[in-house]
Amino acid sequence: MDKNDFSAYVYADNAATTRLSDTALEAMLPYMTAYYGNPSSIYSFSHESRKALSAARSDVAAVLNADPSEIIFTSGGTESDNHAVVGAARANVAKGKHLITSTIEHHALLHTMKQLEKEGYSVTYVPVDGEGTVDVEALKAAVRPDTTVISIMMANNEVGTIQPIAEIGAFAKSKGILFHTDAVQAVGHIPVDVKELNVDMLSLSGHKFHGPKGVGALYLRKGVRILPLMQGGGQERGRRSGTENVAGAVGLAAALKEAASQMETEAARLKALVARLDEGILKIPYTKKTGHPTNRLPGLASYTVEFIEGESMILHLDIRGIAASTGSACSTGSLDPSHVLMAMGLTHEVAHGSLRLSLGKYSTDADVDKILAELPEVVALLRRMSPVWPGLE
Ligand SMILES: *Cc1c(COP(=O)(O)O)cnc(C)c1O
Repeated sequence: MDKNDFSAYVYADNAATTRLSDTALEAMLPYMTAYYGNPSSIYSFSHESRKALSAARSDVAAVLNADPSEIIFTSGGTESDNHAVVGAARANVAKGKHLITSTIEHHALLHTMKQLEKEGYSVTYVPVDGEGTVDVEALKAAVRPDTTVISIMMANNEVGTIQPIAEIGAFAKSKGILFHTDAVQAVGHIPVDVKELNVDMLSLSGHKFHGPKGVGALYLRKGVRILPLMQGGGQERGRRSGTENVAGAVGLAAALKEAASQMETEAARLKALVARLDEGILKIPYTKKTGHPTNRLPGLASYTVEFIEGESMILHLDIRGIAASTGSACSTGSLDPSHVLMAMGLTHEVAHGSLRLSLGKYSTDADVDKILAELPEVVALLRRMSPVWPGLE
């Protein structure tokens, strides 16, 4: 097989990124070829770009139950998270410098908090239970008179657990504290209504729901003032300078509209595929599912496989034509287990053997067949080579 031919490859890493949908690609193309005008220019040629950007904004707003003026296009989930937390923290220093988040956030959020700590802010990291649900009572107890921002993710990217965002949002509102949610894994996959969720700010990213990479959005509730991250030409009503990624915004909006219109049937289809994965994988001895048993993303399946190391599992699956993911990363030389699994109380040893299979729009029954045919062999092979494998009696 040609090593660059991935036509028969099984892609089960949709939580990392997704294939662009055909609808999104088609919507984007004219804005990279025919209508390439700068939306800020005043001649008629640029009207097309401006109109497209405005329509994309309205479409995104409609899906989230927001007003178009509340949508800021960004370069992705990471920028939206940074902008929300840093912008809100800096805009409210007169009130205080205390922030609250959870221990299982994406690094886009956690590393931003770490940076703010270096700049003199104090941050409380609220713990989660064994299923990855944020301890709401601990969050409430963490509030101080100088607390300005709470940021809790809507759905976790490693284990899929969905958080009680509406409840936390109502609480934050009652305390007059700004509330941000990183909804990058949720948007396009489960219903997201900014009003029902009581959020002031919400991050989303195109490439997590079959839109293009490098474009995202930040929902910023009307009346909430945050400082911009970037200074420049004053685009996005002064909130995000830089010439707009018109084709990107158009593709994001098209993918989101498509995902929203297919959400119910697609979620049911993915749940059925994941149920098949669960049934097959949990038959392998010493495996467990991680995350919440029911309150979880429909396409994300996560497990621990004891006595083997996650990265070896991923490399062996890759040789057999399957893309999957693990929480442990030894890319830096040090073998760090996932901060999410550790926060959920798993031991180092068990957390090292984590496996995440995330399915999407283009996943099929045949993909699941292939995973269920290959994975047990990979696990058996690695366990035979493992010095810690006790064997089966
Ligand atoms: C992917 C992801 C991000 C980062 O989004 P980018 O668009 O890749 O910058 C942030 N948060 C979560 C939960 C994610 O899954």
